[in-house]
Amino acid sequence: WSQETIAVVTGANRGIGFEIARQLAGHGLTVILTSRNTSVGIEASKVLQEGGFNVDVHQLDILDSESISRFAEWVQEKYGNIDILVNNAGVNYNLGADNSVEFAKQTIDTNYYGTKNMIKAMIPLMRSSAIGARIVNVSSRLGKLNGRRNRIEDKELREQLSKLDTLSEELIDQTVCAFLQQVEDGTWESGGWPKTFTDYSVSKLAVNTYTRLMAKELSERPEGEKIFVNCYCPGWVKTAMTGWAGNISAEDAADTGVWLSLLSDQAITGKFFAERREINF
Ligand code: NDP
Repeated sequence: WSQETIAVVTGANRGIGFEIARQLAGHGLTVILTSRNTSVGIEASKVLQEGGFNVDVHQLDILDSESISRFAEWVQEKYGNIDILVNNAGVNYNLGADNSVEFAKQTIDTNYYGTKNMIKAMIPLMRSSAIGARIVNVSSRLGKLNGRRNRIEDKELREQLSKLDTLSEELIDQTVCAFLQQVEDGTWESGGWPKTFTDYSVSKLAVNTYTRLMAKELSERPEGEKIFVNCYCPGWVKTAMTGWAGNISAEDAADTGVWLSLLSDQAITGKFFAERREINF
């Protein structure tokens, strides 16, 4: 890998995102470390720059469309294009907390809409390069559509979201809107939503489903302009998100994300991974 290959990582100031940035830079790529807090991002990037890595830094709040636009303009001016986008930024307030309207909304807005808005803003900047442009979404097994224990109970909705011929962006948006409406109405508990980490599970279900939808759309592009899109579950990780209670390190959790970012088999798209193995959605 050379520093001509440009990777963008969201939420890279700490946790799994920082590790993904560090490991990608360790492969010789240029990594753009983004952070919603400017000074925290600069501090994190200094750690990597001092290690001799090619790391640039920019402010990026995926909840703020102006921040996304400013970032996209800066990337275009400074680099022209990027090769890899890792959507890692995310939140989870379901650690013992209830489904407050505010937390549910922020979780869906960040994890799903923020990720989606980043993908839309970055696609025009993703070049047709020898390695093939690729997007990696950091997701979770909690968002499994057909998980045995933690899933949407409505079988028809699950089927519509499963099949690529009935899946659409509108359907995913409608699903998360229906959930948020029920949280607002106080009726979500009888709505058949995933039972564990509900807000978070719904948000990651939307990310997984959007991954499949985008993979299909972007694979229909002409040869050389295709973009490969996959998602993965890092496991239960010792980061701030779990209150440092996970069973694996951020370093190990970054591994599959880095592997997917650098994968040479471009036929792999629209898939879900954990520990470098494909798993079911
Ligand atoms: P951390 O809480 O340590 O890191 C989350 C990162 O996301 C931080 O850099 C945070 O920035 C950033 N972030 C949050 N909101 C925004 C926003 N609006 N704009 C930009 N950045 C934002 O958690 P992890 O490292 O554990 O999580 C990383 C990803 O891995 C998430 O998508 C998470 O859902 C996923 N994941 C984590 C698991 C775990 O066990 N830890 C399990 C499964 C998936 P700031 O520092 O400013 O808050």
